[in-house]
Amino acid sequence: MTKVLKCGDLMPGCDFQAKAETEDEILQQAAQHAKEAHGMDVTPELAEKVKAAIRDE
Ligand SMILES: [Zn+2]
Repeated sequence: MTKVLKCGDLMPGCDFQAKAETEDEILQQAAQHAKEAHGMDVTPELAEKVKAAIRDE
């Protein structure tokens, strides 16, 4: 089963999507995207929000 994170759920207006088999890979992609696109570092708090926004596809 593929997991998907839609950045727009957390950052309205962003159309980035991370897809991976595992939550860890999603978090890695999200961390890289957050830094490159939003200039954000992933804090433990943000990581929790990211995990909560991950959906099964
Ligand atoms: Zn984004």
